[in-house]
Amino acid sequence: MGDYQQILLAADFTNHGEQVANRAKDMAEKYKASLSIVHIVDNLPIADAIYGPVIPFDMNLTDDLMAAAKKRLAEFAQQLDVPESLCHLEVGSAKYEIIRIAKEHNIDLIVVGSHGRHGLALLLGSTADGVLHHATCDVMAVRLQDN
Ligand code: AMP
Repeated sequence: MGDYQQILLAADFTNHGEQVANRAKDMAEKYKASLSIVHIVDNLPIADAIYGPVIPFDMNLTDDLMAAAKKRLAEFAQQLDVPESLCHLEVGSAKYEIIRIAKEHNIDLIVVGSHGRHGLALLLGSTADGVLHHATCDVMAVRLQDN
């Protein structure tokens, strides 16, 4: 393991998020690295039985989601003492956007949570798996307990 300088925390704002955030914060302190945060607003279409698929790119919904996500990210960042300039909010597929942001900002360690799923979820692939397989930097997968 090298000396990390730029650590990126992938935050999904779930209940487990705190465990992942604490590990990222610890690593940043240990290596005296800069800590940034990325959150991705998923743009998958929402299936509706009556009206058919609704809106991947509906402007109002996306604006509302982005505004809510921005507020949540700002609160989360404040708890971790991460300045706004190091917070990244994107729309799209979590694994691809996390990797893109990591490359764009010369990140040398990405910290994600991992549920250690199996069965269908594993076949479909989790965000952690996707990041692990496609990232060009180190990835720390924080094992989360599903209970
Ligand atoms: P999951 O794919 O639900 O197993 O998520 C595993 C980990 O991927 C989470 O603990 C986060 O670190 C990261 N992650 C998942 N979804 C997002 C998201 N929308 N934005 C940022 N990180 C995410």
